[in-house]
Amino acid sequence: MKGSFSLNDIEISTEKEDLLCYSFDASSAEAALPRAVAWPRNADQVARLLRYADENSMNVISRGAGTGMTGGSVPRGASLVLSFEKMRKILDVDTRNMTVTVEPGVINGRLQKELEYLGFFYPPDPASLAVCTIGGNVATNAGGPRAVKYGVTRDYVMGIEAVVADGTVITTGGRTHKKAVGYDLRNLLVGSEGTLAVSTRIRLKMLPLPEDVMTFLVFFNSLEASGTAVAKIISSKVIPRTIEFMDRYSIEAIENYKPVGLPTEVEALLLIELDGYPATIRKEAERVVDICHTLGGEAIVAEDSTARERLWEARRSVSPALYHLKPTKINEDIVVPRDKIPSLLVDLRRLSEESGIRIVCFGHAGDGNIHVNIMVDAHDPAEYAKGKGLVRTLFELTLRRGGSLSGEHGIGLTKAPYLGMEVKERELQLMQGIKRVFDPRGMMNPGKIFDPR
Ligand SMILES: Cc1cc2nc3c(=O)[nH]c(=O)nc-3n(C[C@H](O)[C@H](O)[C@H](O)COP(=O)(O)OP(=O)(O)OC[C@H]3O[C@@H](n4cnc5c(N)ncnc54)[C@H](O)[C@@H]3O)c2cc1C
Repeated sequence: MKGSFSLNDIEISTEKEDLLCYSFDASSAEAALPRAVAWPRNADQVARLLRYADENSMNVISRGAGTGMTGGSVPRGASLVLSFEKMRKILDVDTRNMTVTVEPGVINGRLQKELEYLGFFYPPDPASLAVCTIGGNVATNAGGPRAVKYGVTRDYVMGIEAVVADGTVITTGGRTHKKAVGYDLRNLLVGSEGTLAVSTRIRLKMLPLPEDVMTFLVFFNSLEASGTAVAKIISSKVIPRTIEFMDRYSIEAIENYKPVGLPTEVEALLLIELDGYPATIRKEAERVVDICHTLGGEAIVAEDSTARERLWEARRSVSPALYHLKPTKINEDIVVPRDKIPSLLVDLRRLSEESGIRIVCFGHAGDGNIHVNIMVDAHDPAEYAKGKGLVRTLFELTLRRGGSLSGEHGIGLTKAPYLGMEVKERELQLMQGIKRVFDPRGMMNPGKIFDPR
């Protein structure tokens, strides 16, 4: 590669087999080969790569583990992919100030384990935690089951070192738990899906590890009752650390894929987890179980950590299990106010029955964040088009209830055509203005968030 500065010390490949590996993510977005892939080792290398891309009219696509559900790290145009597999260091665990500083390629699950070993806790736990990276989590403002009590990635980001389009390294936020100095660039970068800057170092808050955890499953014979239970639990002033929901179709998919003995005749289940001091948890559990009982729910408690881990493995296997129903999953992660979950679930079941296309729902019901999976076969153009058509209806049902198009996956490529359904014209102009200030040439992850058409 040519350029006015040296890239000699940076690992770069233009080999087809490498490019293929970085051409897709976990979404149904159309794959596309980049021109090159680079594996930088530090901010200086990232800065030189960005200057090179700018001089050579290339786009820059930051990539974590490619588990994104909206095509966020899928290349568009003549692209240089920056992959953070060589930036996986946990740089500093500051136990006195309860912060941890990491490189962007650190895997979420590894960070969790290392901090737990020291008695600390990093709550954001996307179901992809075994592979997804902190850089990807920050760029998508990832959530997870525990967000109902502990919040999402944004609530833990204290500072970000990032490289902007002209190759300048900036630092936003800092070491302090509070800050009120000018515009909050750190929070602007969180959730910006690689369209404004490339994160090279991230400082996160951590919490003390809760004393104890109790996990239980509640089975319901009615979708509506399971949704009502979610709102009632929270309004009873108990905040479980997770309230995960699965409908009958999800349960069937798990039992056909990696059976764990879940009953396939129930309409829905809630996976509820409480944490804190043992005496408090016991009291809270009584209240939660009472609420579920009055709605016809039947609860069973996971007796030990092995039983708990099996339940979570089952929950995390829903996504792969669904591919055994149909090869293509049009996955949306809409979010509605909690009290609107029951009616939405009922409407979606009706939509599924009327359209003849299976719509499978599961997700973080405690946040009102339901993963709606429209199962089709992309090789059958008529079926695929019909499934795609249901997306707009889903968004209409969501927005009518005061909800939003995405609770955690972001907009990326797949939701960009629908952004205008939620974001009004003037707000869109302001967002695009911000994008132009950071990235005048539009080289940072183009085609994402804003529909180029
Ligand atoms: C089975 C499964 C379960 C999932 N469960 C959840 C869940 O519970 N909650 C949830 O929120 N998401 C979930 N996801 C979606 C996905 O895991 C998250 O969006 C995650 O944050 C993506 O991380 P990644 O490292 O794979 O990033 P990628 O997919 O590689 O990239 C995602 C976005 O981040 C940008 N990016 C990556 N690194 C950087 C960087 N250093 N600087 C700037 N931009 C960057 C990319 O350009 C892209 O826009 C799930 C996905 C799967 C496959």
